[in-house]
Amino acid sequence: MDLAFRQHTGESSRMLDWQNGHLYSARFGDVYFSKDSGLEEKQYVFLQGNRLADRFGSLQPDSAFSIGETGFGTGLSFLCTWRLFDQVASLRTGLDFFSVEKYPLDEKELSTALALWPELRPYADELTLRWQRRVPGWNRWSFAGGRVRLTLAIEDVAEALPETHGIDAWFLDGFSPARNPEMWTQQIFHWIARASRAGATFATYTSAGVVRRGLEQAGFQVKKISGFGRKREMLQGDLPGPPPVRPAPSTAIVIGGGIAGCAAASALASRGLAVELLESQTLGAGASGNPIGILHARLSAGMNALHRFVLASYGHALALLDEKLPVDGVMRSECGELQLSFSAEEARRIEKLAALGWPSHVFRPVDAVEASALAGIELSYGGLWFPGSGWLAPPQLCAALLGSQAITLYTGRTVKSLTPMSHGWRAQVEDQRKQARFLEAEIVVVCTGYQVKSLPALANLPLTPVRGQLTLIPATTASRNLRTIVCGSGYLAPAVAGRHVVGATHRFNDTSINLNISEHAENLSRLREISPVLRRLSDDVSQDTRQLEQLDGRTSIRGSVPGAMPLVGELLPGLYTSLGHGTRGLITAGLSAESVAATVCGQLLPLPLSVVNALSPVRRASPVIPVSIKG
Ligand code: SAM
Repeated sequence: MDLAFRQHTGESSRMLDWQNGHLYSARFGDVYFSKDSGLEEKQYVFLQGNRLADRFGSLQPDSAFSIGETGFGTGLSFLCTWRLFDQVASLRTGLDFFSVEKYPLDEKELSTALALWPELRPYADELTLRWQRRVPGWNRWSFAGGRVRLTLAIEDVAEALPETHGIDAWFLDGFSPARNPEMWTQQIFHWIARASRAGATFATYTSAGVVRRGLEQAGFQVKKISGFGRKREMLQGDLPGPPPVRPAPSTAIVIGGGIAGCAAASALASRGLAVELLESQTLGAGASGNPIGILHARLSAGMNALHRFVLASYGHALALLDEKLPVDGVMRSECGELQLSFSAEEARRIEKLAALGWPSHVFRPVDAVEASALAGIELSYGGLWFPGSGWLAPPQLCAALLGSQAITLYTGRTVKSLTPMSHGWRAQVEDQRKQARFLEAEIVVVCTGYQVKSLPALANLPLTPVRGQLTLIPATTASRNLRTIVCGSGYLAPAVAGRHVVGATHRFNDTSINLNISEHAENLSRLREISPVLRRLSDDVSQDTRQLEQLDGRTSIRGSVPGAMPLVGELLPGLYTSLGHGTRGLITAGLSAESVAATVCGQLLPLPLSVVNALSPVRRASPVIPVSIKG
């Protein structure tokens, strides 16, 4: 991610205005649309220009149509496309809308602009709800129960377009070529063609020669047709070739009933697959069974693939939680998180992140005084404030993700082997009485965390077990005032039912699950450095071995991958993984599931291709993978 990305992802305040009934951008000296006829114009140019009513209406069951747009602006084009899809497409079809926006409107600007169209209100309300979760880079939001998916790249068009593919129709809407030539270069036209499926169409309100010639050179057959209103002409065209037929699988086995498996089951079910979810113990018995998990997005200013992935996953996770889990103080709290500058290294990381100038709803720097005021207890350091973060009860999230009738959950079932067949996979499954049976499905998604080692072919993946212990400590009168998560070298959550969760230890290659006093002491000692209140809390307990012995807690074993990039994607034909989420599963499992499900169904991916490639398990498995896999 280059410097331009960082400098330009600040929001667009004060650059927007109404002029003579047009929503006007001072930055570009051009209009978004006209107040009177903006909606009709979008419908004429983009929806009719791409023959969307017919194409939506003739979609085959369980298939999805994908649109690419240059310039999201107010989202008006997205909303009217969604409404048309609602009106004419059959229920078992999906819509993917990919758009790019370098200068996103802020929340107020967006809702003010969209208030102009009362007929779109139900759709606009959904969009404005997700809008508060936007992050720089890629955003993936689901609407209409997962049937409509928006992938919004908040970055420069030249960064985003080479990172996507699979588009069926384009809306070219990036202000006029004269005012914004960067949006209409030959390179951009080339990427548009490269990201298209055969048979893809485009429409644009401009009839500029540079656009016509550029799109022709990129391979489109281009026509001039009558423009909207006073515009004499506009352009429309298509890429030669029949649209590909994409039969999607209809059955799946998901192995592992933690967050990764439940999210994968949910993402597949929302695309019409019948899913059998197999869990050897009970739902959330492993690392996803902790009473409380925190949403901790540890980012670095140098945006490599891992951090692009974590940032996109964080935004996605917050939007997913809004859909699935109410903020009720029992299952979930949006109490915010303070990442404190407790060491020179952390202070440097935080300073660099603060210098990016990202919108404050993602994070903002705070000094120790403000951090203390936010936390409700005295803190020794300032740091970064993440207002959208919080904690949740992972087992409740697992249960909420399994709401679909298309998912059948089998607990107490251990998969002993996986064998490829001509049209899918066969799993040998053992129940708790050691009785074996076979299940078959077109695809399998393995989400077993570190336990993947028990499936021989997958044992080649570089996953290491890491034991982690949480400590539950009774709140004191002073510590009860804590209102936010505070995070130094360890973390502490606000008291729930009179106890704080303090976490967590890391013991590589240790799969024991007994509670351990020395790890309680380690968790507590990490609190000492960040606050006088927490030092007292820690000292009171740590000095007395009997008190330490009586502390409650929980251990679980996470699966960790060198470099921390999870293993997400297709390993062998029809065999997928979502593994190695380490301590970040609450953040990364949801978007990983989207990525796997989109790959399975040949749909638009929720992440940049470079990130999808970096996640791929293929590159990181050992070179020899046996064709037949038996346990
Ligand atoms: N489709 C939009 C709607 O429905 O409201 C209107 C799009 S408006 C005409 C063009 C948009 O392109 C603006 O929001 C602008 O910020 C964005 N834009 C301009 N240059 C860009 C660039 N280089 N990369 C990404 N977005 C850009």
